[in-house]
Amino acid sequence: MEIRIDNQSFEKIKLVLIEQFKEKHPTTKFNHKIYRFLIKKLRRQLYRQQIAKERDEKLRLEEIDRQNDPLYQAWIIQKENIRIQKEIEEEEEENKRARKLREQREQMEIQKKEQLRKEMEEKQKELSLSKITAPTHNPFAPIQVTITPSIERPVCSFYLKTGVCRYNERCRRTHNKPDITNTLLAVNMYSNFEMQYGLDDEYDCDIGLEFEESERYENFKDFYYDVLPEFERFGRVIMFKVCSNSEIQLRGNVYVQYETDYQAMKAYKALNTRYYAGRMVQCQFVNIPSWSAAICGLSERGKCPKGRRCNYLHVFRNPPLKSIETNKEKSSRKHKRSKSYDRSNKKKKKKSHH
Ligand SMILES: [Zn+2]
Ligand SMILES: [Zn+2]
Repeated sequence: MEIRIDNQSFEKIKLVLIEQFKEKHPTTKFNHKIYRFLIKKLRRQLYRQQIAKERDEKLRLEEIDRQNDPLYQAWIIQKENIRIQKEIEEEEEENKRARKLREQREQMEIQKKEQLRKEMEEKQKELSLSKITAPTHNPFAPIQVTITPSIERPVCSFYLKTGVCRYNERCRRTHNKPDITNTLLAVNMYSNFEMQYGLDDEYDCDIGLEFEESERYENFKDFYYDVLPEFERFGRVIMFKVCSNSEIQLRGNVYVQYETDYQAMKAYKALNTRYYAGRMVQCQFVNIPSWSAAICGLSERGKCPKGRRCNYLHVFRNPPLKSIETNKEKSSRKHKRSKSYDRSNKKKKKKSHH
């Protein structure tokens, strides 16, 4: 067997081997016998390497031949096709399983929904049933708080809110008359030209124009500054309202609310049946649960469609409180007030021209 290696390389390897041996066995004397042994060993080594190399090369060439063989090619393709087919089948199987699972889940969802819907329907049914059978509720909260309503007749809301009712004792609804309260009502105590002659009923608008607003208010101011101190003699007045309504039950009504029932009672005793401006003052105790409920909310904005014929309080705007007044001023105002009544008479003559 020929070793295919050039001499130069062989000599190089041979020298390396000798050097290696000498390093490994420094005590052994290197001789020709050892040299031949090393050469033989190297030759065998190189021979084995060469055989291995040649075998590998042969196998490589055979592999190339095999791959180039159409039969082999066909076999490879078939194998690949089978693999692909298998993959496809596996994929289909997987898809089938997934679809089945999905369908099962969907079915369950539908069942759940159906169950929920049925439950809802039943609840709805129960609700609607209870709606039918339950007693109907009054949508409005009871206004009445302080006075217990009559069992037989409903409470008169006008009386309840304003302390008066146009029907008085003839009212078909209940008027719960309070005993003693902190609020006095001086019935029809205030009067002016229109009220005095009852002209505001018929000629509400016309007379309103003729009897100037400012003049009417001046008239009220005189009354206010004259009367309020009278009431204040008996206690602190926390609410003083004078009606401008033309309705008979409210016309010229003066509401005076004290801090206590006792103060109101003292005022009642002192002022009831006394005379003011030539007319007898008639006082009564009233219960006004809420002033905002008693006073016409629309009137305050001047938008009440009923005008002064409204059944709720249309009140004069109270003028600012006067501080300390001298008697002289008081007497002069009293004089002025009487003058204003004279003026009212003049106006009446003027009116007769129409
Ligand atoms: Zn009534
Ligand atoms: Zn009104």
